This record gives sequence, C-alpha cells and structure tokens, in this order.
Amino acid sequence: MFLFKQKTDLEKYLQPLRDSGHAIGFVPTMGALHAGHLSLIARAREETEKVVCSIFVNPTQFNDPNDFEKYPITLERDIEQLVAANTDVLFLPAVGEIYPEGHPPSTKYDFGDLDTILEGQYRPGHFQGVGQVVHRLLDIVMPEKLFLGQKDFQQCLILKQLLKLLHSPVKIVVVPTLREPDGLAMSSRNVRLSAQDRTKATTIYKALIFIREHLYKTSFPILKAQARAMLEKEGFKVDYVEIAAAENLQALEAPLPKSKMVALIAAALHDVRLIDNLLLDETGR
Ligand code: AMP
Repeated sequence: MFLFKQKTDLEKYLQPLRDSGHAIGFVPTMGALHAGHLSLIARAREETEKVVCSIFVNPTQFNDPNDFEKYPITLERDIEQLVAANTDVLFLPAVGEIYPEGHPPSTKYDFGDLDTILEGQYRPGHFQGVGQVVHRLLDIVMPEKLFLGQKDFQQCLILKQLLKLLHSPVKIVVVPTLREPDGLAMSSRNVRLSAQDRTKATTIYKALIFIREHLYKTSFPILKAQARAMLEKEGFKVDYVEIAAAENLQALEAPLPKSKMVALIAAALHDVRLIDNLLLDETGR
C-alpha cells in the first residue's frame, strides 16, 4: 500500500492510472477503522481496480469541539487493517493540506431541508462541513465510484445532492451497515462506551426492529413514542426517533404506499452519541 500525505503526490500517482483506464474507487473515512469501514474497502475492491482510502478527521464537520477532541485516533492499527484488506492507497493529509487557507465554517451548498432536519437539527453546520471536505477530497482523488455506509443514511443523501450540485459523474455505492453480533451498528465511537453502556447500546437496534415489526399495526406517533420509551428506560438521552421516506427523509405520519421508508434514531448514553437506521421493507409486515 502506498501512503500519501501531500495531495500533489497523490494526484501525480493517480493521473497515469486514470489515463490508462483504471477505475478508481474512493472510501473516505475519519480513521479508527473497524470492520464496517473494511466492508466498504472490500466492496470497492470488488467494483474498482484501484482502491483509495482517506483518513482525515475533518474539523469543519464537528459542531461540538469536545467530540472533535475526543475522536479516537488509532493510526497504526488502521494502517495494518488497510494493508490486510489489500488497499492500494492511503491518503493521510494534515489539516493544512485540505484547508490551506484555514477552515472557516462553510455554508455554501444548497442541500434543501436535508441540511436542517434530523442530524442537521442536532448538529448545525455538520453537513456543510461534510460537503466541504468531500468536495475537496473528490477534486483530489477524482474517483469513478464513491463508497459510503448506509449507517450514515442522511449523509448518503446529502452527498448524492452534492454530486448533483457539482454536476459530478462520480457514482455513489451505498454499502449496508455492518453490525456487532448483538445488533449494535459498528462505529468508531463505540470504543468510548463504558462496559455497562455498551450492553445498553443494543437497545437502539432493538427499537429499530420494534418499529419495523409494528409498522403496519400501530400508528406512527404511538410507535415512535414506544421506541423512545424503550431508549429512555435504558438511560438514553434521545435526540430523535423518526420514520421517514427513504428518498428524502421527510417525516411520515402513516405508511407510504409503494415507497421505501426508513426508521432513524439518534440517542446518547452519557456523552457518547450514537446514530442508526433501518430500511423498513416488506419483511416487517
Ligand atoms: P467515518 O469514519 O465514521 O466517517 O465513516 C467512514 C465511512 O464508513 C462512512 O461512509 C460511514 O457511513 C461508513 N461506516 C461507518 N460505520 C459503518 C458500519 N457499521 N457499516 C458500514 N459502513 C460504515
């Protein structure tokens, strides 16, 4: 695996590959890699010829400075895992490499309602920061395909919108959420949970399954209140429990005929905030 810290070096390496027709797959991450990230690498390995992973803890997408400071960094292990996963290139830029002019918060992308609902409501400015960094990374890597995790469902929709705004030819591949055996979605933040909270954290997945199982039996407001109560009983501070149209995340009051729906939860145990979601297809009926 090649490791580049300077964008110009990476660009010089990738251009001849692109010129000779190699499809480049790109997996942007913030490091502290786990099997979920590696499933994105594996998918990129299957679908493209050169796999580029970036590790960059992007300051502009953290609305909470405490969350930024506490973001886990496990670089040596990350590199070992990327080598074992047969990654071709790791791009590991310093903050100044991505933001040579400093990094004032950016508010320039028109993501519509998606910017301010759900995650956007509880993390103001977050998606502008995500848009800003992915825009810059795409300009450097210029991949054919961008691999994203369904775990960050709203982020996937935001980045689809970003590509539309940029008239970009890059294709997005959304990879299903990888879970621990007890259902907890893998996340870099899970390592910050105490042993007791780690056990409780599985309630998020249980609440999502509960919603899926009762989707056509209980009214949505009651169903959401029941899921919220499950979480609060375990000590979660719940930001939201929502049932929405998968296409645009507009909240729903009742089942949407013939369209995909998704249940989304954000909730914190002590200061560790977790998010998860579940597509609500026919299997819940
Ligand atoms: P992050 O390092 O948290 O910014 O995540 C980098 C990429 O990995 C994003 O596209 C995430 O959606 C994806 N990802 C994070 N957790 C998982 C998971 N449990 N399963 C699949 N993909 C994931």
